[in-house]
Amino acid sequence: MQPDKAKVLLVEDNYMNKVLVREILTLNGYEIIEAKSGAEALKMLTVVRPDIILMDIHLPEMDGFTATRIIKADERNKRIPVLAITASAMKGEEEKILSHGFDGYIAKPIEVKKMLELITANLASKKEKELSGTD
Ligand code: MN
Repeated sequence: MQPDKAKVLLVEDNYMNKVLVREILTLNGYEIIEAKSGAEALKMLTVVRPDIILMDIHLPEMDGFTATRIIKADERNKRIPVLAITASAMKGEEEKILSHGFDGYIAKPIEVKKMLELITANLASKKEKELSGTD
């Protein structure tokens, strides 16, 4: 459970996936905000401050790779962990995704326990970096 209700920005255009992830995270004590495209996510980041971002790769208007590159290039946002959500779970894909600036990788179909552990680990390491003042 998240004692301080960490805020998750979920960027996903697929309705079923969005509902699934929203339900799982809400049940586990997270606060969810949602965007349907990379462009919408970037717009939201000018007014909200999520603790972590879950980013689908295939999105309308602007894909997850591009949106994440822009987020990570922004001094204000670069410390927010961004986890990719994608069906491309093939060998070698994970490395490609991490090389695009993502902090982790959630494969579809989503394994609930794995996803929750990845989120917890990334929130913990973000907090640690903030406390120690390192990048
Ligand atoms: Mn999609």
